[in-house]
Amino acid sequence: MTTNMMAEMTWVEYQRRVKTGPLMVLLPLGALEQHGHHLPMGTDHLLPLAICKAIAERIPAVVAPPVAYGYKSQPRMGGGNHFPGTTSLDGSTLTAIVRDVIREFARHGVRRVAVVNGHCENAFFAIEGIELALRELRAAGINDLKVVRLDYWEFTTAATLDRCFPQGFPGYALEHAAVLETSMGLQVFPELVRMDCLVDDPAAVFPPYDVHPARQEWVPPSGVLSPAKGATREKGRVLFDEYVERIADALSKEIEEAQR
Ligand SMILES: [Zn+2]
Repeated sequence: MTTNMMAEMTWVEYQRRVKTGPLMVLLPLGALEQHGHHLPMGTDHLLPLAICKAIAERIPAVVAPPVAYGYKSQPRMGGGNHFPGTTSLDGSTLTAIVRDVIREFARHGVRRVAVVNGHCENAFFAIEGIELALRELRAAGINDLKVVRLDYWEFTTAATLDRCFPQGFPGYALEHAAVLETSMGLQVFPELVRMDCLVDDPAAVFPPYDVHPARQEWVPPSGVLSPAKGATREKGRVLFDEYVERIADALSKEIEEAQR
């Protein structure tokens, strides 16, 4: 049996994969966060995990266990941190997790890592974790580690956005638990999507600033930031295939560069 999942390997198998490289370790980054009445709270790590698994079928890569907790949900991109179930990390904790895990991969001999993010709010804490790991490793004489960091939704082409959002694209922040994530869920974990529980709130309207503590009354009570009823499995398949193909292409270029 061969597996690309790091958690399913013995250390001997893993070491062989690293030594016979070039190999990239994919680290999915997510959250445990409300996603309306119809999507599971693990959506933000389940989606990038599925994308990473499919990518590892195409390029020489191993998928690390996902970081299943993320930075605090923000009202204008995730509905806010006040919902039951949403379970978040302080920024310094997330930064430290990303730093420590990358430093360990480097100790194993890995020289290419991709951090594949599924939760907007994580972005800069992941960047900081990567930067701190690189700084520590440079001080230890390791100068050849390269880390790719990406938010998977940035790989959507304009043509696919037109196809998935015939009424116009509301923007990625307002897409929380809406057409994009729901369609992807219908493709990746259909058994966990409760379309019969979908609450059809109108799109949230936010001013262009935040208030702390958060104004909960700005957020639709369902936690969905724009209508999800246009979601379909067909859209999810198109989105998923596009992410896998385009991210795999980008990462294989970065792996090849390691051989030169
Ligand atoms: Zn999400």
